[in-house]
Amino acid sequence: MKIKYLMLVSMLSLYGCGGTEDRASSEASGEAKAKEVYSWRMVTTWPKNLPGMGVAPETIADMVRKMSNGRLDIRVYGAGEIVPAREVFEAVSQGAVQMGHGAAYYWKGKVEIAQFFTAVPFGLTAQEMNGWLFHGGGMELWRELYARYNLVPFAAGNTGVQMAGWFNREINSLEDIQGMKMRIPGLGGEVFEKAGGIAVNMHGGEIFTSLQTGVIDATEWVGPYNDLAFGLHRVAKYYYYPGWQEPGPTLEAIVNKEAYDSLPEDLQEILRAAVLTVNSDLLAEYTARNNAALRELVDNHGVELRKLPDDVIKELARLSKEVTASIVDEDPLSQKIYDSFTRYRSDVVEYQKISERAYGDARSLLEDSD
Ligand code: CA
Repeated sequence: MKIKYLMLVSMLSLYGCGGTEDRASSEASGEAKAKEVYSWRMVTTWPKNLPGMGVAPETIADMVRKMSNGRLDIRVYGAGEIVPAREVFEAVSQGAVQMGHGAAYYWKGKVEIAQFFTAVPFGLTAQEMNGWLFHGGGMELWRELYARYNLVPFAAGNTGVQMAGWFNREINSLEDIQGMKMRIPGLGGEVFEKAGGIAVNMHGGEIFTSLQTGVIDATEWVGPYNDLAFGLHRVAKYYYYPGWQEPGPTLEAIVNKEAYDSLPEDLQEILRAAVLTVNSDLLAEYTARNNAALRELVDNHGVELRKLPDDVIKELARLSKEVTASIVDEDPLSQKIYDSFTRYRSDVVEYQKISERAYGDARSLLEDSD
């Protein structure tokens, strides 16, 4: 594996056109460094130009290019263009490319605890995740974890609460998911397995055909905005909510540590600011676009919208607690991440009860009277 990546490194010529210049730059004066152009490659786990998350890496690159007056020039590649979706983590870690965009739970086979930095079933919403990451100690733990893999992580987008997914039969009880093959990644997939299903971890670009050809029986993907773009309504009839498995998944940008350290401080700050902007802007985009997409799915495509039965939700919640606790291994950092997340979650829930939830209840009184 290592050899393969080393070959890829030389093939892609590590720091673009500036390979030898980069080495020289470490000895060059500050003035020369301030003029140097850094040509980077960013690989992603998303199909090229997928609305929302697929465009987010391009937005980061555009902002960085403009803010740096062209000094940091990042070229974005969709899944499979130069690196397959499943190898993004490894490619950036090994330095074959400088940057990646995806989601931490895709790497669970390598770093199981990393799933906490994407989504925990019945865990945190987007707003709460941002609170934990930026002001609750989460980001420091994420950096500590990824430093082991030669990576610097950033929160780089959030879809908000997702949908439970697409099914071709109604879910009236847990019986209905026994033996069902569903594309459902991360901890949600492990919970689904415990509940009697078969979880398949599959990247976005493979979902439509797999569902159409019967490789899988059901899938979750994101929410109306992205699911409509994928055409999932053409291969499944029932659209279930709520997305218990991904209440506010954080997307990640990862940067190779040497590449990051080679940047002058102002470019590091520009990169950080651009990713932070996209982190909140993407959530705004999903919040604004999901509504019209849902209407189109239901009104124009005859999709049957269904809520998962309460007793199914209740059992999934019980299993989630078990699964989440069980992935903590003997590594002290894994325990620290679990403790930080669960402590924050129980604190945040207390205030949410009298803020977001109480307000939602209050507003529904008005909606009911409309
Ligand atoms: Ca999802």
